[in-house]
Amino acid sequence: MSFNPVKITDTTLRDAHQSLIATRLRTEDMLELAREIDSIGFFSVEAWGGATFDSAIRYLNDDPWQRLRDLHEVLPHTPIQMLLRGQNLVGYRHYPDDVVEKFVEAAGRNGVGVFRVFDALNDIRNMQKSMETIRDIGAHLQGTICYTTSPVHSNKGFIAMARELYAMECDSICIKDMAGLIMPEATRDLITGIKDEMDITVDLHSHSTSGISPMSYQTAIEAGVDILDTAMSPFAMGTSQPPTESIVASLAGTSRDTGLDLLKLRKVRNICLRLRTKYETLLNPISERVDSDVLIYQLPGGMISNLVSQLKEQDALDRLEEVHREIPRVREDLGYPPLVTP
Ligand code: MN
Repeated sequence: MSFNPVKITDTTLRDAHQSLIATRLRTEDMLELAREIDSIGFFSVEAWGGATFDSAIRYLNDDPWQRLRDLHEVLPHTPIQMLLRGQNLVGYRHYPDDVVEKFVEAAGRNGVGVFRVFDALNDIRNMQKSMETIRDIGAHLQGTICYTTSPVHSNKGFIAMARELYAMECDSICIKDMAGLIMPEATRDLITGIKDEMDITVDLHSHSTSGISPMSYQTAIEAGVDILDTAMSPFAMGTSQPPTESIVASLAGTSRDTGLDLLKLRKVRNICLRLRTKYETLLNPISERVDSDVLIYQLPGGMISNLVSQLKEQDALDRLEEVHREIPRVREDLGYPPLVTP
């Protein structure tokens, strides 16, 4: 079987800093980075949505809409991708349909080119309105499956959900493994299962928290994944994504070569390295380590650094293990929802 080059969605400007430095990257630093990123040739850069909207207002006194417009200006060649929580948009409750419609239209108008839409319960009804609006404005619609493991979840169920997303005319499907739980063989089976049945672009998003994701990326590559989510090495691994440069280098010269230039990536990497030093006080070793216990407590990468920072603020970081122990119990009581920001 022969496949196309692997495409890369770089997450440094959203998930990576959400996962490692509690979403605190400022607009001015993002712009410097984005200017350099624009020449790389990424499929997209995830740079908006998720917790970045809230965090920009709550902690940084940055205007998320101005940030989006500024990013759009310095990224003329690279689509900006946002993470949208379906009917919840970038908030923590569901909004009326007209608000969803206006928000999606405004996001598109201000620069979002790729919308990754998910629902924390994998309930497509909560994604319907935003998906329709995204189709109406002609942006790239990426439907998302929140990947998790539990007695009630299986690849069969995820493939059934992919079928529904496919029927809703998504441009691509994302397997969103927000906590880094997907095993290499499960990755292969899931991607093969979707690909065998549907002619659709598949994106794999995972986190390195459990240390398993680079292996799962390899089986994804072999199974014909179209897009992989990665973060620039200074903001990679731990609770963040596998490193962009490593994935690009590992595929160089193979049938799935990304075609991206490692020397150009070095320039981006050098800026990231400087920023990492600048934000060093926000980096907690807890977010950078491999923690196989995540397979039990299942916290998403993007939530761990924020949880750590919130526990710290309450002078309760010593109770982290207790929180970890409590999560699976609460989850069982609630009927095993995927753990991801609702
Ligand atoms: Mn993520």
